[in-house]
Amino acid sequence: MPDFLRRGAARHMLISDGIRASAGRTPDKVAIRESGRELTYARLAARIARVANLVHAGLGLRHGERAAVFSANCLEYMEIVCGMAEAGVAAATIGPAASGPEIRFICEDSGARVMFVSAALEQAARAAAPPTVTRFVVIGKDYEDLLAQAAETPCPVEVTEHDIFSVPYTSGATGRPKGVQLAHRGRVLSAFAMAAEHRCYTNTDSAVATTPMFHGAGFLMALTPIWFGGQVEILPRFDIESLMATIARNGATSAYIVPAHFAALFALPEAKRAQWDMRSMKAAISGTAPLPQSVKERIVGYFGAGKLFERYGTTETSIATSLAPRDQLRKIACVGLPYPATQVRVCDAEGKEVARGEVGELWVSSPFLFSGYLNLPEATAAGTRGDWFVTGDLARQDEEGYVYLVDRKNDMIISGGENIYPREVEEVILAHPAVAECGVAGAPHPYWGEAVTAFVVLRPGMSATSEELTGRCRDALSRYKVPKEIRFVPSLPRNSMGKVLRRELKAQLAAQG
Ligand code: AMP
Repeated sequence: MPDFLRRGAARHMLISDGIRASAGRTPDKVAIRESGRELTYARLAARIARVANLVHAGLGLRHGERAAVFSANCLEYMEIVCGMAEAGVAAATIGPAASGPEIRFICEDSGARVMFVSAALEQAARAAAPPTVTRFVVIGKDYEDLLAQAAETPCPVEVTEHDIFSVPYTSGATGRPKGVQLAHRGRVLSAFAMAAEHRCYTNTDSAVATTPMFHGAGFLMALTPIWFGGQVEILPRFDIESLMATIARNGATSAYIVPAHFAALFALPEAKRAQWDMRSMKAAISGTAPLPQSVKERIVGYFGAGKLFERYGTTETSIATSLAPRDQLRKIACVGLPYPATQVRVCDAEGKEVARGEVGELWVSSPFLFSGYLNLPEATAAGTRGDWFVTGDLARQDEEGYVYLVDRKNDMIISGGENIYPREVEEVILAHPAVAECGVAGAPHPYWGEAVTAFVVLRPGMSATSEELTGRCRDALSRYKVPKEIRFVPSLPRNSMGKVLRRELKAQLAAQG
């Protein structure tokens, strides 16, 4: 009997399969670029095989173990994660801005004995890692020599599509960070679903990836373009001018541009923006955080109609819903319809579906879901109901089934006994032409319980007063939602994906009593 039948089915889907297929089909085509360096498909596939053998034979890591990866985005990131996965070793990924305690925590929680680290972060890594990490492989130092010594033949470890290839950590909004176990199968199917939805991932397409690859979405956005034989240019860090210049120079057809990036784009002078030719773009995909309607309209104006997608997902669900370009101006503040193979439900606290139009918690079921939190069976059980992941996001659906995210359940403000969703207030303030950014949180208040407070960043050279902004809110919102205070600030606290950290705003307010 052929091997593939003995295993019960056709060959398993592994995250490097697409790269290997393209190495057979277009070996000399450049797959990946970063800072003027590049790798063809043949070289990338060969280096993935070498990393796998290094991990397995050279470093002695076993199937089912984890090793840490601590680096900013770079050319080597892809081959390291893919190569480790070929040896059945999952990458516990650490963001380049992680603090000492975070580095230590991830190493301990994942049980990593080995860390792949960039030269720039080596010192921080050695200072913070627990003694259980006994080996540091430094990209830009001993890494190349070790690769040169490793075999290029396929790694002998048998890996299945259900094996975990990476463990990104959630940002830990509540309590300690949780390691989200992602399996090959879910990631590959996410790539297929993205290709079907966005139509910008064929072998003639090219993408720019700028979001950090330690994050689940950041890695997926770098992998998907080369899964199908296209090209990707990876930017080591976010910078709006280099992102836009790279898209224009490469004639890129897609990019994942999060709301903070769009905010940076529209903060630039008009003349600057006008210098970049965006006609090659097929898809500007936003996600990770709410994209205010006022910004969507500017994006459609700048990139042209038919290009903006807004998608919603979490590290645990991977991609979940997508709002297609044709609906951007028709469905307001909406994250669209489920991706292929995905189902959503809006449920009450008892897990019963609420009536259409009513607000409840969003549940997601798909083949892309995570394989549980590492070492946390209780948290996994608390976050799942059978085949469903309970997202912690409040949402409603309209008659056509489109999903509208209302807000994070934990960010809801309760003032005078009324529920207030910060996002609704932020949208109104952001529609003011002088406002660049806005974050709303509740301040402790002896009478109201919480008082709605808005933090506002103004566009350079423009002005607005508190009275003007509260006036707009009074016109657009119920009285109890109008901010009791507007604070003008130079910037908002954000995480590495550019998400506004409302919990920090809330902590600031609480600290001031
Ligand atoms: P993470 O696990 O870090 O990817 O964060 C997931 C969370 O980001 C979700 O639970 C949402 O609260 C938020 N999020 C993701 N996409 C969107 C979106 N398009 N609009 C609003 N919030 C989003």
